[in-house]
Amino acid sequence: MTTVVLATANRGKIAELRRILAGVVDLVGIDGAYEPGPETGATFADNALAKAREAVRHTGLPAVADDSGLAVDALSGLPGVLSARWAGRHGDDRANMELLLAQLADVPDERRGAAFVCAAAYALPDGRSEVVLGELRGTLLREPRGTGGFGYDPVLVPHGMTVTTAELDPEHKDAISHRGRAFRLLVPALSGALAEAGL
Ligand code: IMP
Repeated sequence: MTTVVLATANRGKIAELRRILAGVVDLVGIDGAYEPGPETGATFADNALAKAREAVRHTGLPAVADDSGLAVDALSGLPGVLSARWAGRHGDDRANMELLLAQLADVPDERRGAAFVCAAAYALPDGRSEVVLGELRGTLLREPRGTGGFGYDPVLVPHGMTVTTAELDPEHKDAISHRGRAFRLLVPALSGALAEAGL
């Protein structure tokens, strides 16, 4: 099976995507091979492609990458690519969620729609690349609920459900998540490109 680099140092993501890409490619992390640059793209797709291409440049191997976040209808799609640093510091999940809830305090229930969005990209050493999007739409609560997941999981109830994504077990979340959807879409495109490139 072809070895493909996943452009992330996040062990949780590697485990999740290994489950999704099982039998298709042999996924490895970047394991300190290089220090990823800052995420400066205007869209999830720009960032995912930039991360995949950066991994190819540093490793010479085919690479996949993702970029994701929360797009809130009442904020015209923000926090978007700023989701991880919405409250000013990268990765402070609690502060990000509290700031978002405060901003939406006066937004009525019928306008609290939002979506987790994920762009998944591959890039090959011969320059081929492609990016696809996956979405999980839902409604934002006024108070966090549940202890699973990460980020904004405790405040999003997916459409058709009564629990937040922080109240789902990981397998159930993978099955419906923006990341699961995006990578399941990417699999056939990646397999086709690898075969055409003779990899
Ligand atoms: P990244 O794709 O790892 O850069 O994630 C960006 C940010 O989006 C995270 O820090 C979270 O705040 C948010 N996010 C992305 N995916 C999820 C998810 O599945 N649940 C909750 N928050 C998420």
